[in-house]
Amino acid sequence: MHISLETILGKKSDIPSQEIIEVDRELVIHLRNRITGERFIFDVSFPKQLELNYQDAGFRQSLILIRFILIAGLVFFIFLHLLESMAGSEGQISALMSRVPAVITLAILLFFSYHPNFKHNYQNIITLSIILICASVLAGVIHYTQEPYITLNYIIAYVVFLFGVLAMPITTSHAGIAGLATLAMISGTMRYIKDTPPELFGLMVFLLTCGIIGAIGFAYIMDRLSRVNYLQGKLLLVEKANLNKNNIQLEGLAKTDALTGIGNRRCFDDGLEEEWNRAMRKGGSISLLLLDIDYFKQYNDIYGHQAGDECLIQIAEMLAGKIRRASDTLARYGGEEFALVLPELGPQELEKYAERVCNTMEKQQIAHKGSRVSSVVTCSVGAASWTLRPQDKLEDFIHAADQALYKAKQSGRNRIVMF
Ligand code: GH3
Ligand code: MG
Ligand code: MG
Repeated sequence: MHISLETILGKKSDIPSQEIIEVDRELVIHLRNRITGERFIFDVSFPKQLELNYQDAGFRQSLILIRFILIAGLVFFIFLHLLESMAGSEGQISALMSRVPAVITLAILLFFSYHPNFKHNYQNIITLSIILICASVLAGVIHYTQEPYITLNYIIAYVVFLFGVLAMPITTSHAGIAGLATLAMISGTMRYIKDTPPELFGLMVFLLTCGIIGAIGFAYIMDRLSRVNYLQGKLLLVEKANLNKNNIQLEGLAKTDALTGIGNRRCFDDGLEEEWNRAMRKGGSISLLLLDIDYFKQYNDIYGHQAGDECLIQIAEMLAGKIRRASDTLARYGGEEFALVLPELGPQELEKYAERVCNTMEKQQIAHKGSRVSSVVTCSVGAASWTLRPQDKLEDFIHAADQALYKAKQSGRNRIVMF
């Protein structure tokens, strides 16, 4: 079952039209089972279009978080500088200068996050920014000769990486690149710039590697979970759309007469009530035709029930051809009785309409040897046309048309009686 994304969202989506895809229920289930299945599969990426939509949804959900983290980053660097000035650490002015690129990167990123193109490149931009900020923080280490400032800057660089990978919506491969770069930069600074003792250097690199692998692993697990959630949400929307569609179909079936395909008694009741209420609100007029086939029992007796059914179908088709407006309702009222609800039709127009229906019925030339009024199938019609007043009752209106039909039968059949 294919349902367009537009149908599912129930509104025009902001995804460009060429990106609107058909959401395939089977595909969504297959992808979800792939991720949650017993056999572990590492690559859980989606087909191209769905992947783009997933990234897009992730981005839209995370945009506020991204901005919050960028602002928090800016505030952090400002406070760090203030605290360091208060502590009077040596070399802090130079360290501050080397951290300027980090602050500028954060500010540019924050500014660019409002640009419409940001969402197309945000994965690369965020990854690059993590690396730049880490590099800028580590550049500050060069100016320090004392502890705890040196270690503090290593920790800050590591925290920048952690926040970037865990809180930003970037893919596992982007997290991997940022992790490798951070590891290379921190260990490079320790080994070649700060001349860290070999035993400490080994331990630090080991701990750092474990931390970075752990963070990337965690980001990967979160991505898998978020993909399952995304697919689950899609599935729910597809099922809901299917359910709505089935409901509409069921509702249609519940109002359709199985033999003739036109409306049934329920359709008549609902249609008449709706138009009655509308006419009542507007103080307009409403008309009703009740049409009963003459001597139909005899028709069945002579030609057989099957032929009787065919005759009813043919009459229903003829009547359906007489419907001109969407507000008109045609229904099979009973066995061989039909009803037409015709809003906003006055008595004269209704009489002319009924005459046309009876003439067309005769012109169909359905032979009827058992009829005592004609050689072909004819009908008797009871008609009522009211201009509604507040005190009028729907039951009385139906009764009026029914009485008119009764009179048409009593006075010889094959005729129209207006109430
Ligand atoms: P009148 O002119 O007074 O209307 O006589 P009538 O024979 O048409 O009316 P009556 O109410 O005596 O009989 C209606 C007949 O309509 C009896 C029934 O077998 C037939 N009928 C009702 N529903 C169906 C149907 O779905 N298919 C067929 N073939 N006949 C039906
Ligand atoms: Mg009848
Ligand atoms: Mg009849």
